[in-house]
Amino acid sequence: MEEWNQSANLALDIGGTLIKMVYFSSTDNCSADSQENRSLEESNDISDDLEICLIGKGRLHFVKFETTNINDCLDFISSNQLSTHGDLPDEKQHSAGDRNLIKATGGGAFKFADLFMERLGLNLDKVDEMDCLVAGANFLLKAINQEAFTYMNGHKKYLQIDHNDMYPYLLVNIGSGVSMIKVEGDEKFERVSGTSVGGGTFWGLGKLLTNCKSFDELLKLSQEGNNRVIDMLVGDIYGGLDYSKIGLSSTTIASSFGKAISENKELEDYRPEDVARSLLRMISNNIGQISYLNALRFGLKRIFFGGFFIRGHEFTMDTISVAVDFWSKGEAKAMFLRHEGFLGALGAYTSYQKKNSGELISHQLIEQLPNGVQCTGDDQCRGLPADPKS
Ligand code: ADP
Repeated sequence: MEEWNQSANLALDIGGTLIKMVYFSSTDNCSADSQENRSLEESNDISDDLEICLIGKGRLHFVKFETTNINDCLDFISSNQLSTHGDLPDEKQHSAGDRNLIKATGGGAFKFADLFMERLGLNLDKVDEMDCLVAGANFLLKAINQEAFTYMNGHKKYLQIDHNDMYPYLLVNIGSGVSMIKVEGDEKFERVSGTSVGGGTFWGLGKLLTNCKSFDELLKLSQEGNNRVIDMLVGDIYGGLDYSKIGLSSTTIASSFGKAISENKELEDYRPEDVARSLLRMISNNIGQISYLNALRFGLKRIFFGGFFIRGHEFTMDTISVAVDFWSKGEAKAMFLRHEGFLGALGAYTSYQKKNSGELISHQLIEQLPNGVQCTGDDQCRGLPADPKS
């Protein structure tokens, strides 16, 4: 565990599955030079390793814990002496009365309030979950370069966001459940839809069907699977032919898991890899489609996806992108965020300085780019990680 002192403050997003923490460390300082070296040598483009460098001030760190292991989170806070005492990025000090107050969002901010008080003497200052998601997304889009990217056919493309033309957009947060939020500005939004078939469904069903012990194990397993073994394809119904009259190729999925009913097989007869693959595809595809339909409802062309379900996973992003592209006939775009899982926690963090959350620290920020990425000024970045399989 990283050693650091009391000059810190933190915010929490305590969700149904994961606790997301953002904390600031002023002693863990960085300069433009050191940041450049770190980004080339250490970053590996997964959310676990993300940090935001505030030049000459310190760093924002991102950590997650499983909600069922909330004691790990409490121990982390306690052993690292994290609380709201110490420096804030804008050097605004907390008054004595604020010292034991932590900004917290998500249902767990209510559920575990007593536990934080009993164990650590900390008061959870509750911030609305949707407010935080939107504030976090807007903050990232405004303050961090190369935060958003598209991912299609194994190709990742970082985007320059025009701050004057950011709105409206649809924010789709895929956590345990899924929220779809039409965002029209700072603090101007409406939760327009959602679905209970989300990350919790993938992990819950996947655990039952494959006996995987962790989410990452399930994701890894899915990489080695083939969904055609279980999914019923158009070609399975049409004797290998396309149904070209309505634009369906023989490889289009007609029914997710549909093949399982026509074969005299038990669960044990299928490879867990194939089950995991079909499940991931079914859920990602479905979320992509529902997202597009909601974008269509409100005439939105841009859809940003966040939440820990995505996990920077190539197949997940690819499936969502293809679904949005397919149903919108190329009109709408799926975009992803590097700090995908931390929108709520970042939103809670920026609420310490609510007045200027969008501009909070943007002029002082250097973000950590993935390995060797260089941006040319347009929306293309060179030196991206090797293209994965499509
Ligand atoms: P919530 O706030 O509802 O907990 P998150 O955005 O944290 O939502 O996403 C939770 C989802 O992220 C899980 O349902 C699962 O699909 C996925 N996930 C990613 N990493 C993990 C992990 N290490 N443990 C459990 N679920 C994970």
